[in-house]
Amino acid sequence: MNTEKLTYVFDLDGVIYRGLEPQPHAKEVLATLRSRGHAVRFYTNNAAKSRQSYVSKLEKMGIPTPIDEIMTSSYATALYFIEQNAVGKTVYRVGEKGMAEELEAAGMHVIYDQDEPGAKIDFVTVGLDRDFNYRKLARAQKAILDGAKFIATNEDATFPMEAGALLPGGGCMVAAVRTATSVEPFVVGKPEIYAYNKILELTKCTPDRSIMVGDRLDTDIMVGNRAGAQTVLVLTGVTSRDEAESAMGKLSPDRIIETLEELL
Ligand SMILES: [Mg+2]
Repeated sequence: MNTEKLTYVFDLDGVIYRGLEPQPHAKEVLATLRSRGHAVRFYTNNAAKSRQSYVSKLEKMGIPTPIDEIMTSSYATALYFIEQNAVGKTVYRVGEKGMAEELEAAGMHVIYDQDEPGAKIDFVTVGLDRDFNYRKLARAQKAILDGAKFIATNEDATFPMEAGALLPGGGCMVAAVRTATSVEPFVVGKPEIYAYNKILELTKCTPDRSIMVGDRLDTDIMVGNRAGAQTVLVLTGVTSRDEAESAMGKLSPDRIIETLEELL
């Protein structure tokens, strides 16, 4: 057996669970990888929930996970502010409570909706916001045109629901703000590599010793390939074998597996 220590980075929805149901073998595979000394990390683009809420969700499925093993696009945005020496600065949030929790925990001053009118805004962060409206768009527009930096947690077009149903994703809010300002955002989440590189930095892992395991070609596999990781597409989520086998370039996974069991 190869005894080299690796970092396994798992997408969550479609890979570790689907809705409230854990995926086949997820629990045993994670336990085995950990017992072999590999690092395990979970990385979701979902910016609407805090890391703590994922800890609770995984725990309920019998997958106990320390909070520092979870990366979300909101948490990565908080890390970005820390790296930029922007702690304490003012952020206008177009996003949900989980985003605010991560940014506030990092020491940012977070403004929401029409609070603190007239405040000077340094950054506008945009992610999934199921209460998005015209007034928020107008305020984000004004802040960015006045010089605030535009940060997108992710650009997911859709938000997958149970039984294959879809709702609009955070990318729709990002597109509205982009259209209103003609400004391109700095994108933190998949398929951009900022957050993935943060995982490598935190686990002190080189890209080639990391393995991105995901169910989506245009986010999970793309980010892994861009970062120089090994990429594994698991067929328990949104991608069919045909789609995976015909993917080209950076969308093409190194391996395709039916279930997580094949990782061992
Ligand atoms: Mg997924």
